[in-house]
Amino acid sequence: MASAGQPPTLVTASRIITMADQPYVYAARPALAIQGERVVGVGDLGDLRRRMPDASLIDFGEASIAPGFNDAHQHPTMTAANQRGVDLSAAGSRTVLLDELRSRACDTPSGEWVLGTRYDHGKSTGGTPLSRTDLDEVTETHPVLLINIGAHWGVLNSAGLAAAGLSDDSVPPPGGELSRDAAGHLTGVVHEQALFDLAYPSLARGRPVLPVQDTETALVQLRRSLRALNAAGITSVGDAMVGPTELALLQEARQRGELTARVNALLTFRHFDAFLAAGLRTGFGDHWLRVGGVKAFADGAVAGGTCLVEEPFEGTDDHGIQTLSTDELNELALRVHAAGSRLAIHANGDRAIKLVLTALEQARAAHPVITTAHRLEHCSLVDAEILARMKNLGAVAVPFGSYVAFHGDKLVDYYGVERLERMFAHRSFLEAGVPVAGSSDFPCGPFEPLLGLASCVTRVSSIGRTAGQILGPSQRISAQEALAIYTTGSAYAAGEAAVKGRLVTGNLADFVVLSDDPLAIDPRHLPEIHVHQTWVGGRPVWRDEDPP
Ligand SMILES: [Zn+2]
Repeated sequence: MASAGQPPTLVTASRIITMADQPYVYAARPALAIQGERVVGVGDLGDLRRRMPDASLIDFGEASIAPGFNDAHQHPTMTAANQRGVDLSAAGSRTVLLDELRSRACDTPSGEWVLGTRYDHGKSTGGTPLSRTDLDEVTETHPVLLINIGAHWGVLNSAGLAAAGLSDDSVPPPGGELSRDAAGHLTGVVHEQALFDLAYPSLARGRPVLPVQDTETALVQLRRSLRALNAAGITSVGDAMVGPTELALLQEARQRGELTARVNALLTFRHFDAFLAAGLRTGFGDHWLRVGGVKAFADGAVAGGTCLVEEPFEGTDDHGIQTLSTDELNELALRVHAAGSRLAIHANGDRAIKLVLTALEQARAAHPVITTAHRLEHCSLVDAEILARMKNLGAVAVPFGSYVAFHGDKLVDYYGVERLERMFAHRSFLEAGVPVAGSSDFPCGPFEPLLGLASCVTRVSSIGRTAGQILGPSQRISAQEALAIYTTGSAYAAGEAAVKGRLVTGNLADFVVLSDDPLAIDPRHLPEIHVHQTWVGGRPVWRDEDPP
């Protein structure tokens, strides 16, 4: 096994969680043997040393080793691009938020864009979104765009509206909305496609209004974003919003050896035709950068209160918004399925999920030989019918891992505690036999997988009025189930279960070295586990002794 090429390395720790059929290696002193980028042996250190006498040894003492975390759906290229702006997720009041934007405007040449990201209106502006007039207080000489933490709506100041070519006479783009006051004037708040056209190259109908950055700057920012993920133990990540700009950036990073996490790229549906015309389909790429599927959106955001729900949001008659028409959804599902590619459709509310399932069922009926496991991104609010239909289709759920911990207040306000028993339904998916992946949707939720694990296991809200409350206790799962979701589950969702997610011979040597055993610790303390090292492809990409 370990004869060819360079000599193997043995890595030993007090516990090795393999996520194979038995979660642990039971040995006096367990070890992994690594050669090149693969695992070439797992078992007792003494046995492995006898089998591989020329192997070098790295001893992690009392630490635990687990497969690297795989965040099936987040936005590393968007996060990298967001570094242009001010991260406002910590702003606790209107004053602080406006001050931060004002000081950024002071440092920005007049006429250039001022960008604020991760604006949480629940935490900073009392649940009410700011308007153009609020942002006009910041500056009248710079266009300003403030993007909500859910990344599905934003606010422009008057200069921003002008720079975007929007006026009271403007018609919203298909799949988008322009908010108006009672007199019909634009409030500055833009939803869905109206926001995407401003800021997201992968989804804009033409060139986005905000300028795209040069490659060198974008690469520096991408490196920084990936490093933060590595420091949290992430070895693989799904980028859920990739267009040509993002794919070119990721390829450049791949070529320069700067991808420190493996990326499963979900191409936005706008670019599917070009992809198809080039003769490509899901699976194209390599273990570092692979096209994992085609991303589309059926509804709005769960934490933004815009997803499409059967029962209206609490205390309203609002059922949320559908962002792609049913005909478009059906047609897209049929084309992508027929081409042998994987669909990854964003659907949060139960009504949106049912529309997507109908589209998938029709596509499957038209081409029953094709058995691609399609994905429902977020799949936040379910019922028995949805679970049964997903199981039938072999569809994969990619729910938020940490929204209970992070967005507790908003969830109770929008959906009520009873409905939360059917949301982020990890327990229901497992019981129904629906494959389920782990995901943060960062920057919409925090990316730390250990925080996600804690949220799935405890369902305890950690912030605001609901802090300490258990939300949807029937959906709690065990630490082992949560770890499986973030390792084997996410690997399956990306079509890479054969090489990732388990530390077994032949798999990629992607793993984390943790200060404590995540399967043994009190789950409330999971987020406090320290990530000593993160290895991707048999090499450390993060070591806690490295400078930040
Ligand atoms: Zn997302």
